[in-house]
Formats: sequence, structure tokens, C-alpha cells
Amino acid sequence: MKKDTNILSCAEFQAQLPELIGSGEQIAEHPHLRSCELCRALLADLETIAEAARQLFPIVEPPDELWEQIESAIKNEEGGSDRG
Ligand SMILES: [Zn+2]
Repeated sequence: MKKDTNILSCAEFQAQLPELIGSGEQIAEHPHLRSCELCRALLADLETIAEAARQLFPIVEPPDELWEQIESAIKNEEGGSDRG
């Protein structure tokens, strides 16, 4: 009497939510959300809260210097070794 293992229960899905959000994946594409109105509503609530939090704690833009450091780090990676 086992249910389809592809489909998570709401509790299982909600337990994974923070991880899904943190991983930056497209949560809206999640199969559970496609079939579960309850969790869609929950996610909408979370997004409203996250939006409010963003207004309270605005994310500081990274300074130009940081991008230069990233760029040079990438160049070092590419040209650093002659494997082949
Ligand atoms: Zn659900």
C-alpha cells in the first residue's frame, strides 16, 4: 500500500523548502508544487515575507573591486597551468 514515491507529502516537501530556496533552484517547477495548492499558497506567503525582509535589510551591492578580483581569479585559473 505504498503511494507514488515521486510525490512527496506536504510535510516532506516543506522540510526541504529551506534547502530548495537556498540552492537557488526553480522551486515553482517542483513536481509537488504542480500538484499541491496548499504548498503553492505557502510559498507565496514565504515570498511575501522574504520581500518584506528585503526591504528591511537591503542587500548591499558588491563593489567594483570585487568583480575585478573575481575576474583576475578566473584568468589565473584559465592560464595558470598548461595541462593537455
Ligand atoms: Zn503540499
